[in-house]
Amino acid sequence: MTHSPSDAPTTWVEGAAGSLFDLDNLPYGVFSTAGTEPRVGVRIGDHVLDLAPVAEIGDPASALAAAWRTPSLNAFMAMGREQWDVARGWITEVLRDDVHRARTAPHLHALADVELHLPIEVGDYVDFYASEHHASNVGRIFRPDQEPLLPNWKHLPVGYHGRSGTVVASGTEIVRPCGQRKAPDEDAPTYGPSRRLDIEAELGFVVGTPSRLGERVATTDLAAHTFGVVGLNDWSARDLQAWEYVPLGPFLGKSFATSISHWVTPLAALDAAWTDLPGQDPEPLDYLRVREPAGLDIAVEVVLDGEVVARPPYAQMYWSPAQMLAHMTVNGATVRTGDLWASGTISGPAADERGSFLELSWGGREPFTAGGRERTFLEDGDEVVLRYTAPGTSGGRIALGEVAGRVVPAR
Ligand code: CA
Repeated sequence: MTHSPSDAPTTWVEGAAGSLFDLDNLPYGVFSTAGTEPRVGVRIGDHVLDLAPVAEIGDPASALAAAWRTPSLNAFMAMGREQWDVARGWITEVLRDDVHRARTAPHLHALADVELHLPIEVGDYVDFYASEHHASNVGRIFRPDQEPLLPNWKHLPVGYHGRSGTVVASGTEIVRPCGQRKAPDEDAPTYGPSRRLDIEAELGFVVGTPSRLGERVATTDLAAHTFGVVGLNDWSARDLQAWEYVPLGPFLGKSFATSISHWVTPLAALDAAWTDLPGQDPEPLDYLRVREPAGLDIAVEVVLDGEVVARPPYAQMYWSPAQMLAHMTVNGATVRTGDLWASGTISGPAADERGSFLELSWGGREPFTAGGRERTFLEDGDEVVLRYTAPGTSGGRIALGEVAGRVVPAR
């Protein structure tokens, strides 16, 4: 019998060891093969493991298997942290120990042979605004004569309720939205396709365990309630947004589509990614206090038509996910299984760390170069892919689910 030279677990799945989807990652998704119903799988390397039939080999009455036979992660997520940990330990063992190989391998499907679906039934959707650099940039662009940050910004994580029904899976075509636009130098609004269609590179957090109506979630309870994270693109029509957002906030400029990754990375896979926040001044109120490290060291890439145009660093986010969850429930509002909250656009201090074209082109006034030509907002046919990586618990890096979407002409 031979022993691996290090303690780092390795998998028998071909091509997976040392990849961005090794045993220290194991994101969940919903997949189907030709002629079969969508059900829950876990990604290892370039394969998806069909979880339910493997779980039933050992236990035909497995409650986990029953949850994994359904076409979303919600039933599994509702089982709670203890079962998530049991499942992750079991999956790791099955994919690590060669003794399981013969009976498990038939349930592995090459990614090329499966269709991936929206992984969760989205409950409520909240979008925050947690990057100081993004909020300051937008303030300077939209309100050049005022302080870039409004007085509340450093006291609470600003957010709004978005439209969960239009959260779509990566790969879904984005139809250019129509609506009312009025440039500052125009007398009256006109109706038509957005001329300033944009992206927002964000991270999404998926709620597993619900909270009770009337009870707040403490910042220390993030891991008890949060199942995992997804890549998220908050498509934004800046011209619709600029005309409609005062006084009640984002509406049709945002609600036409929000894309999320096919893969949900369990919070446990991010254990090595926690890092200290850049610093909060003034000190937040008691219910928003967190113990460091409360931030996440996740590297993001914004890819436009195959070219990386920005590298936003999630570690620069001012507000932590624990503070967003605590703030969202501090009035007694519940979170439920399948609820999704997003971080807000991830932007760092440098010009090439901005997570929106609004910022990259400074309101359209300073075009950036991509594909050998000057660009401002999205054109029909453009494809945007958001990619994310983080330190893994085995010393390498893991990839989070990427989010892709192509813009098609208005209808
Ligand atoms: Ca947003």
